[in-house]
Amino acid sequence: MTLIEYEAVPEVAVDPHPQRGTVVMKFGGTSVAGPERLRGVAKRLVSAHEGGNRVVAVLSAMGATTDELLSLAHQVSARPEPRELDMLISVGERISCALAAMAINDLGHRALSLTGSQAGIVTDTKHGKAKIVDVRARRIHESLDRDEIVLVAGFQGVSTEQDVTTLGRGGSDTTAVALAAALGADRCEIYTDVEGVFTADPRIVPGARKLHAVSYEEMLEMAASGAKVLQLRCVEFARNHGVTLHVRSTFADVEGTWIGEEDARMLEKAMIAGVTYETDEAVYEVEGADPAELFDTLADAGVNVDTVIQIDSALVFSAPPEDRRDAESALERLGAHWRERAGLGKVSVVGAGMKSHPGVAARAFTTLGELGVQSYFVSTSPIKIAFYVERADVEQTVKALHDAFDLADAAAARAHA
Ligand code: ADP
Ligand code: ASP
Ligand code: MG
Repeated sequence: MTLIEYEAVPEVAVDPHPQRGTVVMKFGGTSVAGPERLRGVAKRLVSAHEGGNRVVAVLSAMGATTDELLSLAHQVSARPEPRELDMLISVGERISCALAAMAINDLGHRALSLTGSQAGIVTDTKHGKAKIVDVRARRIHESLDRDEIVLVAGFQGVSTEQDVTTLGRGGSDTTAVALAAALGADRCEIYTDVEGVFTADPRIVPGARKLHAVSYEEMLEMAASGAKVLQLRCVEFARNHGVTLHVRSTFADVEGTWIGEEDARMLEKAMIAGVTYETDEAVYEVEGADPAELFDTLADAGVNVDTVIQIDSALVFSAPPEDRRDAESALERLGAHWRERAGLGKVSVVGAGMKSHPGVAARAFTTLGELGVQSYFVSTSPIKIAFYVERADVEQTVKALHDAFDLADAAAARAHA
């Protein structure tokens, strides 16, 4: 059995005298894609402000801006310098914030846009996947005290070496939660293009149901295994600092999904929270390497090793696809015999009820058997079973497991936390 060890989240200086009524509202890329949508976000922020809240908004880059900037960099250079890449891709979030501030001013309210650095988001020096080590929120407080709506560019900070850093794809979620923790906010609302966290990605399972409540542990496993709706690190932060998250739609005024401590009512009816997937898994087979040396070298290269399996002198491990280049050069440096087992994806079943209900593995294996899908290997935690399968089998496996656990069934709906 493998257990994912989540990294310890550094302390951020939490406001000793939190102001009542502070709300952090984060809007994702689709929510701010275009002038009309940005004006819509501005209206939402203004109405939260008129409702008597101190409003801090965290915005993502508009639509596909980050992808476009990355592609531009790769058209100019085969191996862009990580520092310069961060200078480039951090710009998208700043554009959204400046435009939203203009729209808010036009609505007769005052707003201030800030870069991550100006907002006091201090990170380590790992470009492209920096971690927040401190939040120095003085400037945000001053602006809120002047009754302004504060707009913070998501996904970025300033390193302890004074360089602009970014927090990894989906990192605006983490900016929002770190600010909510540091400001002692009442709520952290994550506005996105779906109505909440679903039992599976609604884009591939049309019958997926919105979950009313998900525990931190389940959401950690779901985010770690492909549910892109929240960045993994944001969930770690929320759990470690006790920030309740509300994931909800930008486009419909309906209740979304609450993420917080496990509550008996969450598990009353549904032991499985959902089925998640990754279409690209980087899996390596290594022969004859010293495991301590191997994993040391990978750690030095900043590769986040996930599942590890050892059989005699053979080691198999997986790592995030975005770490592929670093993993490959580390393996080359080591001079080990290795190859990538290409073409794999991963499908996971996640649910806190698994701890106390036997039979989940049996049902999952039976489902794969009936489909005729082979799994290359399986990894488990107390609340997750993950199957590494051929990429072409991912979608049908997700759908079949979703059916097998009756996740579309209204009777399996979870009670509110
Ligand atoms: P944003 O730009 O708002 O941050 P993301 O694209 O990062 O939005 O995340 C939202 C997307 O996550 C949804 O559009 C959906 O396709 C995908 N997703 C994957 N798994 C899930 C899930 N279990 N529940 C909800 N959304 C999911
Ligand atoms: N714009 C960044 C990305 O596309 C960060 C985010 O949206 O959260 O990954
Ligand atoms: Mg996102």
